[in-house]
Amino acid sequence: MRIILPFLIAVSLLVSCTSTSDNASDSKSTMDSVPKKPLEYGLAIHGGAGVIRRENMTEAYEAEVREVLAKALELGENTLKAGMPAEQAVITVISYLEDAPQFNAGKGAVFTYEGTNELDASIMRGKDLSAGAVSGVTGVKHPIQLAQKVMDESVHVMLSGDGAQTFAKEQGLEIVDPSYFHTDRRYESWKKARARADAKPQMSENGKFGTVGCVALDKDGHLAAGTSTGGMTLKRWGRIGDAPVIGAGTYADDRSCAVSATGHGEYFIRYAVAHDIAARMLHGGKSLVDAGDDVIREELKKAGGDGGVISIDKTGTIHMPFNTPGMYRGFVTPTDRGVAIFDDETF
Ligand code: ASP
Repeated sequence: MRIILPFLIAVSLLVSCTSTSDNASDSKSTMDSVPKKPLEYGLAIHGGAGVIRRENMTEAYEAEVREVLAKALELGENTLKAGMPAEQAVITVISYLEDAPQFNAGKGAVFTYEGTNELDASIMRGKDLSAGAVSGVTGVKHPIQLAQKVMDESVHVMLSGDGAQTFAKEQGLEIVDPSYFHTDRRYESWKKARARADAKPQMSENGKFGTVGCVALDKDGHLAAGTSTGGMTLKRWGRIGDAPVIGAGTYADDRSCAVSATGHGEYFIRYAVAHDIAARMLHGGKSLVDAGDDVIREELKKAGGDGGVISIDKTGTIHMPFNTPGMYRGFVTPTDRGVAIFDDETF
């Protein structure tokens, strides 16, 4: 059964684990992930890419993270099984991950240079190319839900800062005191990073990006993608990463695929990563696997842009390429499921 599944998880086979993010794997997928016939539904998630290695993680923490990812998949699958739209699965999954302090989104967000938590999120619907995004919000419990409100209840695509927060209140979303986002673990990372003489924006901690994302294909054949993050530790001056930028960190188009990214946002913006993968499929006739590998493992890697994406197309093919030593990730379809962290793991 497994061998006919789409998930090749291209990520992994023949990938050699390397010692820094700079020389992470660049091997290509070793099998194609196209299913023999289109799958009824499918969903993939990520919880960030980066320098993620077994030796740097306790067994207990690894088990905890895997459990959260498995639960997120279960919630997403239940939504899709019930015949709900892909977009609803994305909202359900990301709201759950925003509540999980293990990840750099919602509760668990990293700290800015000034010691605040500023959140970014976006969502896109493949059916009609509708999109909504928010950046720099400080008191909205679930930024992904605010992004959905922007998409459905406003005439805009992206709102930022105080204005976004005012809109969230008008829409009746849950507002929290900014202190809600404080976690000791992120705070300690921030203190250490801030104390360094050359304190510069960096991944959430120890070289890990912890952004969360979800892509889904529903029973009606529609795609959706969403991404939510606290951005990068020590980000300054209202910095906005790729997560809320449609076409960079998030993209969905029923004609090609749905993509959610994690990694060094500045690169993902400059290379319009999510849209580039979709465009290579739509205009270049590439498969999801080739398009993703070319962008993440070739182009972005050459440029020095660390990170990865999760992606799904209309047939239920799921591809999750990354160019770092690990990426928290998982997938579910009617026939299989899996959670993985390291680059040598296959499903
Ligand atoms: N892409 C995010 C950013 O640059 C960081 C991450 O993936 O964790 O804001």
